[in-house]
Amino acid sequence: MTLNTNLQNRVALVTGASRGIGAAIALALAEAGAAVAINYRERGTQAESVANAIRQRGSRAMTVAADVSRGDAVKAMADRIAAELGAIDVLVNNAGVGLVRGIDDLTEADFDLTIAVNLKSAFLCTQAVIPAMRARKWGRIVNISSGAARGPGALGLHYNASKAGMEGLTRGYAARLVKDGITVNAVAPTLIETDMMRGREDLVARIPLGRLGHPDEVAQAVLMVIGNAYMTGQTVQINGGTNFI
Ligand code: NAP
Repeated sequence: MTLNTNLQNRVALVTGASRGIGAAIALALAEAGAAVAINYRERGTQAESVANAIRQRGSRAMTVAADVSRGDAVKAMADRIAAELGAIDVLVNNAGVGLVRGIDDLTEADFDLTIAVNLKSAFLCTQAVIPAMRARKWGRIVNISSGAARGPGALGLHYNASKAGMEGLTRGYAARLVKDGITVNAVAPTLIETDMMRGREDLVARIPLGRLGHPDEVAQAVLMVIGNAYMTGQTVQINGGTNFI
């Protein structure tokens, strides 16, 4: 038995991988041997530098612009990846938005956008990769949730709802795909040092460890989950001791 996750000859898609947690996950998957597709919405230059960092380490990488909240864009993205890198074996649903809103200033448009980007995208991307995973009887899907799925959260109830929905999606797919050799798990970080948390350093006071988490620490948990064939339908918390749910 090897304890290191080996992804040689595997193809991975990470949504929202131009920066932050997604970029760290893309680099970690490449370190494990995977060819990686780096999805982004608008920051193509940043996505290209993640791809170049992967290529410099000797792995294959491509960038792909797509708004993952739209079905037509997700289908076109999946077709391009299949043509350039091969069928997707590993999907990490990471793309997300973190609008900060209180009860009284949360609009219908904010709510719809958050659910579409944080939750519906995971449904669309998962539907797109399942047929090829089923055909090969192997697949790994990891959904990047948040401590806000179960705790109070720092952004707003729209964000709580989107991430709680993502964990429901995780269990629903896990139950239905386990016999096909496909595992579906969630990794739930709390307060990680990225653009999403810029200006929110005051929140460090909530973390018993006394600092924000690093994107690499989330990536490490994603690799751990992908390496375990017997684990499915679970959520792994990465939160510096904030809670133990
Ligand atoms: P970030 O630095 O703001 O990066 C967000 C990423 O998502 C970017 O790559 C962005 O692409 C992409 N994106 C946004 N909307 C998209 C869309 N419609 N289609 C495709 N890509 C889209 O965020 P982060 O902090 O790394 O967060 C990554 C994930 O972790 C999110 O799901 C977030 O909810 C979750 N999370 C974060 C924290 C935290 O403390 N940071 C805690 C818990 C959970 P562009 O660069 O092109 O805009």
